[in-house]
Amino acid sequence: MPIEPGVVEVEFIGIGVGRGIAIGPVAWMSPPPPEPSTAASGRGPELELERAEAAAAEVARELRSRAAAVEGTAAEVLEAQALMLEDPAVHGSIAEHVGRGATAERAVFEAFAGYRELLTGMGGYLAERAADLADVAHRVIAELSGAAAPGIPDPGHPFVLVAHDLAPADTATLDLERVLAVVTLEGGPTSHTAILAREKSLVAIVGADAAGLVEGETVIVDAEHGRIVRAPTADEVAAAVARQEELAAEAAAPIAPGRLADGTPVPLLANLGDPAGAEEAVRLGAEGVGLFRTEFLFLGSESAPSGAVQQEAYERLLAAFPERKVVVRVLDAGADKPLAFLGGQHEENPALGVRGIRALRRTEPVLREQLDALAVAASRTNARLEVMAPMIATVEEAAWFAGIVHATGLPVAGVMVEVPAAALLADRVLAAVDFASIGTNDLTQYTMAADRVLGEVAELQDPWHPAVLGLVAAVGEAGAALGKPVGICGEAAADPLLAVVLVGLGATSLSMSPSALAGVRARLLRYSAVQARSIAEAALAADGAGSARSAAEAAAAAFA
Ligand code: PEP
Ligand code: MG
Repeated sequence: MPIEPGVVEVEFIGIGVGRGIAIGPVAWMSPPPPEPSTAASGRGPELELERAEAAAAEVARELRSRAAAVEGTAAEVLEAQALMLEDPAVHGSIAEHVGRGATAERAVFEAFAGYRELLTGMGGYLAERAADLADVAHRVIAELSGAAAPGIPDPGHPFVLVAHDLAPADTATLDLERVLAVVTLEGGPTSHTAILAREKSLVAIVGADAAGLVEGETVIVDAEHGRIVRAPTADEVAAAVARQEELAAEAAAPIAPGRLADGTPVPLLANLGDPAGAEEAVRLGAEGVGLFRTEFLFLGSESAPSGAVQQEAYERLLAAFPERKVVVRVLDAGADKPLAFLGGQHEENPALGVRGIRALRRTEPVLREQLDALAVAASRTNARLEVMAPMIATVEEAAWFAGIVHATGLPVAGVMVEVPAAALLADRVLAAVDFASIGTNDLTQYTMAADRVLGEVAELQDPWHPAVLGLVAAVGEAGAALGKPVGICGEAAADPLLAVVLVGLGATSLSMSPSALAGVRARLLRYSAVQARSIAEAALAADGAGSARSAAEAAAAAFA
């Protein structure tokens, strides 16, 4: 079906996840069941409650049997959904609604809507979990009304799955043989769809303005550029196929330590949030861990995790990297990652509030317990543990943290540079610690004053911006002058060309989602240190994020 330019849109834009590209026909996700009627039940509260409970139990059973068939995050997501169905607060609310005369369908709808509102109001990470709840409610309502569960279509051939918002239960169990790519209209870069797509190396674009896509039409889904091209020309298809071949060759290339064309080593490390991911990271060639996000282990905990529980998790992580560097970040609570046991009081601007090191200083026993658990875990393995603090803004905070880490007997203490103030005083901050690791996600958020979880300002949330690159350069220079390592552990390190720029600005190691390692490894090998510096200078001299990328592309092309 040809699309006439100027009459209908020929392209849709969204937030790409990873760098994959796919070509195929669109198939829309089956719609959720319609909103249940508010008419009073004719069956009576007791029977309605029984129906609701039976349907909830059946859906929980089905989710668990799907969980048993998969592994890792997929299984955890499905299990978490089953648990939502057993939450006593939800059951209490359902009982209340049927008690007031609602049908089971309506009571389930109301109970989950209330729960969802609560999560949405909390913002950030929790708000993004709201989609999980909507999906659970839809499944129970479909079960009650005998309708087919909302879910993945089966057009009988491979397809590009388009959905309003993909439920985690669906993302987790997608048949990767049939689903060429996923496009969702909702969702941000940290939504479940994005997290799971990244983990499965699935071509995906979330938050896409793509409601106009028509069932069956052929599209190119270009995640690297966040573009969905409709009615592609033969040339566009050929370019996409060539790109697919390039990416496949990259993935198949032998795994070797990261280095530049002149042999300069650039260790390539993994970002992890769970020791369970270590094996895959090692398989993909991670030379160690550049960021272990400890707070991910305890996001659901009401009370501080015990030393023993922590010790076990850290030991599992460290044991997977004998003789390797493993950088563990102490708990980074606040904003989009609230931890109930580290404050969590309401704040007007949580991203600017009591988070990271600020929260830890207010609950110092929690920090001490964590450091003790890390020290014990380190003494039982032979990984090279380094510990770092999140959200350092002042030299005093850096010195305080290094003092407490060294006093625990842990030899290497570093800080994350995520706040522009720390980058601007990098020489003094670095003088107080053993290393720095730049968190480009937050550094971009604070430099550009653009909330990292708000889709509407996503355009400003671009680490290619020369203002962000200038701060990276300041930290790189300070590190070189003091002879201290400067790593990068934000998402920026996963963009192959930007990784070259970051090395050119002075980064001495790069840490990223393991699925990004192959692309970055291949790209680094194409340039010498001198060339990386000149590509970085071209980006630094630009006046915006887009022009910085184009300038780097042009400078890099000159060395090809
Ligand atoms: C960052 O801010 O870049 C970072 C790596 O930390 P997080 O994404 O966990 O805030
Ligand atoms: Mg951060």
